[in-house]
Amino acid sequence: MNQKLRNMNKGIDRTSSHTIKWRNFLFFTITFAVSIIGVPIYIYAHGITAADVILFGFWSTVTGLAITVGYHRLLAHRAFKAHPFLVFLSLFFGAAAFEESALQWTSQHRDHHKYVDTDRDPYNIKQGFFYAHIGWILFHNHPIDYENVKDLQRNKFIMHQHQNYVPWAVTAGILLPLLTGILWSNWLSALLISVFARLTFVHHGTFFINSVCHYFGKPTYDIQSSAKDHWLVAFITNGEGYHSFHHRFPSDYRNGHKWYHWDPSKWVIALMDRVGLIWDLKRVSKFQILAARITAERAIVESYLNCHSHTVRVAALENLKVRYEQLKQVLYAWELHVKEYAVLCREAQAKSELVKSALKRAHDARRTFLQMRAQWGRLIEKPAIVFSFDFA
Ligand SMILES: [Zn+2]
Ligand SMILES: [Zn+2]
Repeated sequence: MNQKLRNMNKGIDRTSSHTIKWRNFLFFTITFAVSIIGVPIYIYAHGITAADVILFGFWSTVTGLAITVGYHRLLAHRAFKAHPFLVFLSLFFGAAAFEESALQWTSQHRDHHKYVDTDRDPYNIKQGFFYAHIGWILFHNHPIDYENVKDLQRNKFIMHQHQNYVPWAVTAGILLPLLTGILWSNWLSALLISVFARLTFVHHGTFFINSVCHYFGKPTYDIQSSAKDHWLVAFITNGEGYHSFHHRFPSDYRNGHKWYHWDPSKWVIALMDRVGLIWDLKRVSKFQILAARITAERAIVESYLNCHSHTVRVAALENLKVRYEQLKQVLYAWELHVKEYAVLCREAQAKSELVKSALKRAHDARRTFLQMRAQWGRLIEKPAIVFSFDFA
């Protein structure tokens, strides 16, 4: 039994601190250098074929989705249940992304959520943008506590992938892309584009979530955490850039909760749900989302008011508090009416007039909420909150 397994059975893997992790350092330096130097030289000298582009798209997409849908939403957050075959695919193509075993990835990610912005957060943004992006991987000094992934240790596929990570990763992430390249294009373009360039693209997309989404963007649903929503990161990571939402509601299978939010991972999950390979999808209600958003908006305005004089601040805070409580009450009333309507709809013997009047109350409550929400939106504009104390 090797040292890693012995440590794992003790529940913890302590790596020496503040030392270069040479395996990671060489791997990430070489893949990055080949991608930004070797790949352009190759394309300049030999051109690029449609097959190369399609294979790059295919390998980026399947390995990216294995991380977002498989490692992240399925294994780390248990946002839904999946057929064992899908779990296997997640492990296989997840290994191809070269982001460590699912067990290690999940353990560190659960710590990230639990201890975000503290020293126990493996990719703590408080230690700087570079550290959160890749420094923690190159100069890793965070202990891995496998106690938080006991649930996954019962799965034999997950344990096999963890204990044989390198063969899994090399087979799925290097040999298979090379084979598809040899069959359709040539081995050199496959090595450079489907392996090196694809690895760099998927790696840094994932890393942007830990760096950019904890540094830039909007704290739409919670200002207590550094997590923020950033549309550009969502675009390149199959929808993972809605990070403020994700930190506020980590068990939701969606990261972009609105239908038009760019979140291919949630669309894949919904499709798999339709065909029966995925079930028990977790999602929070729109009322919980609206409540979180209103609370975050209030907190943002409160922090803005701190830079104003005492008199202005006290008056504006009081005004804000009153409007906030009113808005929450209207939201709560809307939710109650919707629930009441849903209960009546389920009761076969409910009279149609009762159902109709419940529906009307729900509609009216929604309209009232939207009106007050619009007023609230005008109030919390920065100049308005200072000057509109007589807001009605
Ligand atoms: Zn995060
Ligand atoms: Zn997460």
